[in-house]
Amino acid sequence: APPSTCWSPARPRGQTGPTGTHAPGKGPGDPCEDTPTPVSPGWHACHTGTPTTPQGHTSPPPQGLLTFGYIALLARVGEQVAGSMRKALFLSLLRQDVAFFDANRTGQLVNRLTADIQEFKSSFKLAISQGLRSGTQTLGCFVSLYLLSPKLTGLLLVVLPVLVGTGALIGTVLRSFSRRAQEQVAKATGVADEVLGNVRTVRGDRGSRPVEGGCRGGASQLGLGIAAFQGLSNLALNGIVLGTIFVGGSLMAGDELSPGDLMSFLVASQTVQRSMANISILLGQVVRGLSAGARVFELLTLEPSVALRGGGSIPSHSLLGRICFNHVSFSYPTRPGYLVLRDFSLTLPPCKTVAIVGPSGGGKSTVAALLERFYEPTQGTITLDGHDISSLDPSWLRGQVIGFISQEPVLFGTTIMENIRFGKPGASDAEVYAAAQLANADGFIRSFPEGYDTVVGERGVTLSGGQKQRVAIARALLKDPPILILDEATSALDAQSEKVVQEALDRAVTGRTVLLIAHRLSTIRGADLIVVLARGRVAEAGTHEDLVRRGGLYAELIRRQTKDRS
Ligand code: ADP
Repeated sequence: APPSTCWSPARPRGQTGPTGTHAPGKGPGDPCEDTPTPVSPGWHACHTGTPTTPQGHTSPPPQGLLTFGYIALLARVGEQVAGSMRKALFLSLLRQDVAFFDANRTGQLVNRLTADIQEFKSSFKLAISQGLRSGTQTLGCFVSLYLLSPKLTGLLLVVLPVLVGTGALIGTVLRSFSRRAQEQVAKATGVADEVLGNVRTVRGDRGSRPVEGGCRGGASQLGLGIAAFQGLSNLALNGIVLGTIFVGGSLMAGDELSPGDLMSFLVASQTVQRSMANISILLGQVVRGLSAGARVFELLTLEPSVALRGGGSIPSHSLLGRICFNHVSFSYPTRPGYLVLRDFSLTLPPCKTVAIVGPSGGGKSTVAALLERFYEPTQGTITLDGHDISSLDPSWLRGQVIGFISQEPVLFGTTIMENIRFGKPGASDAEVYAAAQLANADGFIRSFPEGYDTVVGERGVTLSGGQKQRVAIARALLKDPPILILDEATSALDAQSEKVVQEALDRAVTGRTVLLIAHRLSTIRGADLIVVLARGRVAEAGTHEDLVRRGGLYAELIRRQTKDRS
């Protein structure tokens, strides 16, 4: 490579750092000091970079101020762009339907929010700061080169497009490497997220291995690719210097070029070389940034199949809560060929409790998910008081009509008060206390030193299973929903906790249309209607007595459960 210490027109020897923030020195080696008369166009550039006062003192360098100004401005703009992208992406993710989250791991999505946006921001800033500097430097030097020797410059202009074309081609390959590397990192982040989130289950070093092994391959391949790219571009640029000396020598021999001009040409072409080397480094970064940006924009423009808002609602005074599933067939979008429900029909009369039982995997929870409109039926309709729920506002349906209590209550790492209030964001403290009393939770909450202000830890780890469940019940009851879905709400509890939670539930269900999903048959005896769901269809329906008398599937389930217990 040409000696890197050689001074260049726009980058005096004192320069440090990649951003070109140099303090123009007046040391012994400074070309401005050593060279009193301009010998090349490059000298002007250097000279104008260090203005002196008439007395000969160096004035406060205006580049210092300008550098400060442009870095501050760029940082501000970069942060603003990244901030608004992060916000827009987060909102776009929140809008997506549940099927989207079935298909995408949360670790991967968090990676989009953090690493990808960071990458995009860095390359955006770099492209502007370095790109602008190296670009104008290259352009300016080309003008100088042309003034010195149009012939040599013409030759350069023939060679360069070929090199740039090759570079662009390699860039395309690098982009695909980068995309793969980022995907691997995102996948590994997902595993790490899962492992850290379930640290009690994952013991020892079992969790760390897949993370480490998973993300190394793609990144090192990308590293090799970038190294090869930069090696090749160095080779090409050095070839240009040698070529210049060779052709320049011939021109000198033919008296077409003076030795001084050839030197100036070489110096200016070195600057071009350095600027282009900078641009090639920059391109590597921009390649990463663009693929990160592409992944972010892909999510930003994604439209959910069920919008969060929009559609009609039924005034609360005329809402009865009659739900009908009419010949519903359904398969999950992530498993399109597999029908979970087939021609499923069921009516939930207002203020009655309908229990769904059946073997695990029979589709019970799917019925609840369809009612909440987390998914759309593949065929058939679901109606609420005769209105197709696909014409109703999903946020009204989920926020005010349906209360959902699942077997795994989800609590957030904040106070109990906030956790309950999540059910109805505008609720007063008194409403929260009333809901907690109804859910049998008020007593244990008040027994904590900080009462309702107790912080429950991430995902509620500081509460017992039964306590968490009662907080979740209070949250569901706070919105006083006309329809309640209980998805195996007591199945994960010990006998003592189950009793307290069951009491709370018995109190909660009165006056509401209830869809009860249960494994243990003992909890559903009192239901107004029991439906046995097998292979996606209603196999039997009736009251407990009816079904036992009929001696079919339900009777068999009861018999098996009693046998198991004994
Ligand atoms: P149950 O509540 O009766 O145990 P589910 O409704 O949870 O049954 O599941 C019914 C079937 O649907 C099962 O075969 C299950 O593997 C499948 N399933 C459940 N959730 C999903 C999902 N999010 N994506 C794909 N398949 C699913």
